[in-house]
Amino acid sequence: MNAHDTERISGLLLEAGYVQALEGSDPDLVVFNTCAVRENADNKLYGNLSFLAPRKKSDPNFQIAVGGCMAQKDQDSIIKRAPYVDVVFGTHNIGSLPTLLERARIEEESQVEIKESLEHFPSTLPARRHSAFSAWVSVSVGCNNTCTFCIVPSLRGVEKDRPAQDILSEVRALVDQGVIEITLLGQNVNAYGVEFGDKFAFGKLLRECGKVDGLERVRFMSPHPRDFTDDVIEAMAQTPNVMPHLHMPLQSGSDRILQSMRRSYRSDKYLGIIEKVRTAIPNSTITTDIIVGFPGESDEDFQATMDIARQAKFLAAYTFQYSKRPGTPAATMDGQISDSVMKERYDALHKLQQEISHEVNSQVVGTEQEILVADYEGRHDGEQSRMTGRTKDFRLAHFMVDPANAPRPGDAVVSKITKASPNFILAEELHISIRKTKGGDATQARTQEVGSKGIMVGMPTLAQLKARS
Ligand code: SF4
Repeated sequence: MNAHDTERISGLLLEAGYVQALEGSDPDLVVFNTCAVRENADNKLYGNLSFLAPRKKSDPNFQIAVGGCMAQKDQDSIIKRAPYVDVVFGTHNIGSLPTLLERARIEEESQVEIKESLEHFPSTLPARRHSAFSAWVSVSVGCNNTCTFCIVPSLRGVEKDRPAQDILSEVRALVDQGVIEITLLGQNVNAYGVEFGDKFAFGKLLRECGKVDGLERVRFMSPHPRDFTDDVIEAMAQTPNVMPHLHMPLQSGSDRILQSMRRSYRSDKYLGIIEKVRTAIPNSTITTDIIVGFPGESDEDFQATMDIARQAKFLAAYTFQYSKRPGTPAATMDGQISDSVMKERYDALHKLQQEISHEVNSQVVGTEQEILVADYEGRHDGEQSRMTGRTKDFRLAHFMVDPANAPRPGDAVVSKITKASPNFILAEELHISIRKTKGGDATQARTQEVGSKGIMVGMPTLAQLKARS
């Protein structure tokens, strides 16, 4: 969600006349789009701000803006700690950023604008997309759940659903621009429709996406098991461009801990959903998020998580060690788990999941897979004449290419999988076919537009700034 907000911030600034800084040049503006969900978010933010303070002192025209969840949470205390910041804008105020920057410049005074609720749906703002062929589309913002470890409800507010016609218009417009893959986004994406009282709205939306000509791959994240209805499974199975992959957070395999997390499903419901998905879509994969070391987690609770991981056979599990988020109920719960126990459990789950992921990836060795070529490189791609992409079921795949006849990011190749590892599958023989797509055309057009000017995509990273100072 935050990465998509960053695309909107970039798009908005470009439309307001800002130009992306060239590689190697000093930018006139740095925008931090912060995330309070991450560990140590405040230390990182204030560390980064103090790094920029000398530049601001020597060049008053240089501007700094802070947005996102930390801004929503800390509001004007950011200006108290870092008075040289020009603009603080909340998660509901992205559209005001250019005006606030201008006002800060004219009035020579910091501007803080934090609205408690959303006035315009953020997807109506322009966006500078990271990829030419793959895009995120928000269907809702906010969340009506109250998971005890999560800061999102207090920062993003209650769920606001976007009208289906607006979502589909955006999808069609993106496809017209060359996008062939979209990911529908929401904090609780399958609760979509709760605001207008249609519990089947998300399944209907998937089916409507299936009617968009030229849209090859539809994904969504993240669904909540509580709201996962059978009609969504049917829509996934019956809509050819909805990919056979489900990312559904488990968080814990212990019913006692799920209750303490205020996650309203239980482990048997979770397993029941993925069984139904696998029955309806036999070649589908499941990935998940798991928190280890939630307050009060006993050895027995942790073993329940290990048991569910064994039964569920996830393609991947994004595993996090619990860390306190100030302001959440879990932060003050009894039974906080020591770092050493947390690490021990994390390592045990990681080891188990690596074995399972290897086993799941091994199932496709010998098969031919269609891979959508990514616009990022794997670590060894350059040196080994190979490229990277994702299969339909979301496996990370590396495949060999003929450098003289290489596909473009956004094209689709079919390759035979010859090896599996826990984290990726490998095609060591030359790809079987390349299918040029509109997504590949869009990447090529964007590359030609940018040329060799070395323009940075999105905001500069602090590492880039440091490298230049
Ligand atoms: S469903 Fe997700 S966004 Fe909503 S409170 Fe729970 S963890 Fe946070």
